[in-house]
Amino acid sequence: MLVMKFGGTSVEDATAIDRAAGIVKGRVSQKPAVVVSAMARVTDQLLATARAAGAGDRETALKLSRNLRERHYNTAGELLGTAVFTQFHSELESEFDTLDELLRGIAAVGELTPRTTDHVAAYGELLSSKIVTAAFSARGIRSTLVDSRDCIITDNTHTRAVPHFEDTDEKLKSNVKPLIESGRVPVMGGFIAATRSGTTTTIGRGGSDFSAAIVGAGLGAERIEIWTDVDGMMTTDPNTCPEARRIKSISFDEAAELAYFGAKVLHPATLLPAIQKNIPVYILNSRNPNCDGTRILARAPHCRNVFKAIAAKKRITIIDLTATRMLMAYGFLKNIFDAFERHRVAVDVVSTSEVSVSLTVDSNESIPALAADLAKLGDVKYEGRKAIVCLVGENLRETPGIAARVFSVLPDVNIRMISQGASEINLTFVIEEDLVPEVVRRLHKAFFSELDPEIFE
Ligand code: ASP
Ligand code: MG
Repeated sequence: MLVMKFGGTSVEDATAIDRAAGIVKGRVSQKPAVVVSAMARVTDQLLATARAAGAGDRETALKLSRNLRERHYNTAGELLGTAVFTQFHSELESEFDTLDELLRGIAAVGELTPRTTDHVAAYGELLSSKIVTAAFSARGIRSTLVDSRDCIITDNTHTRAVPHFEDTDEKLKSNVKPLIESGRVPVMGGFIAATRSGTTTTIGRGGSDFSAAIVGAGLGAERIEIWTDVDGMMTTDPNTCPEARRIKSISFDEAAELAYFGAKVLHPATLLPAIQKNIPVYILNSRNPNCDGTRILARAPHCRNVFKAIAAKKRITIIDLTATRMLMAYGFLKNIFDAFERHRVAVDVVSTSEVSVSLTVDSNESIPALAADLAKLGDVKYEGRKAIVCLVGENLRETPGIAARVFSVLPDVNIRMISQGASEINLTFVIEEDLVPEVVRRLHKAFFSELDPEIFE
């Protein structure tokens, strides 16, 4: 069996859902289970609705809910045709009536807790999964709606609940597996779950990928397909470098490094349950379903190129701290990191020498206060408008002299910091932000002009 997950843009309207139905239909013989996101932007809108209610603004909350109601009615109407829609309409109606009741309650109390937030946010996937199931059935797919709250069991950390895998796997085996075995296509909402006692929870923004991985791991899927609106992961951002090519195959560790430094396709950490069981995950394009996409594997297959991709992250500030006191002192780095923790600022790249430490952070408004705090430890300078450039590839580990090759392409570029991560699969350095396009293009030309056809297309 396989898991097919459709993201928000892949179910954003009737056309998209119709396309998704076509894709699933082509794979029915492979026994799919389907996981869907809320229709695009719906979760954001539900959260805005909940906030309005929490602030006591009942009118705004109900108006926003009316907009959502209309969009879902219209989509279902377009997909189902009059006869089926008339039946189905009352189901949607009762969902929205319950939502409005909930919103009135929140507005009356004028307080929004994480627990109530989850109740409201869950409607996105509850509704999309209902509509998708009905649309699939209308197109001849024998599908069954499964309430994810009966299968994905979590703790009660509302808005980012943590799955209890044993309970979840058991529920998946008893509630979902028999459906698949009897030739039906189960459809589940991603993102939503419940505690052991049945209270609705959500597993964090963007959590539907995580849901797909949990379902795939729990059911022992042969593969997981993440259907989105791009052809997969690319060697670099095609907006910066038109020569960027698709990566056909990448390791989980490589994908994770890329996500950390700005690749926006998905957050691979959410795929961990699948990767740990050696289940391959494919990123595919629902607007271009014949494209093979990108396959993410526990281990990278052999690749003739040193690197898989170049990522760049802009809006970076470098903080330099110089202190002669650091000479032979211990506890100095701890004091520095304590200051970062007090100001809740996350560090990306660090490099140290005997008397100085340089760190990079995302540019943000806490930096002046943080710098004032750090000034107690030494001389502090900070400078914005920097960028991190990161080259990623498992082969880096075994290729001597690679740093020399990278920097020989950039003889005229002022490299402010260099770091090679403990994972040994990334080479990272910091430059002026406005040099990013030029630097990325030169590196791409140097390292991706000849491509291993097994790995790139
Ligand atoms: N709908 C949820 C969100 O927007 C989950 C997801 O789409 O992955 O965060
Ligand atoms: Mg997503």
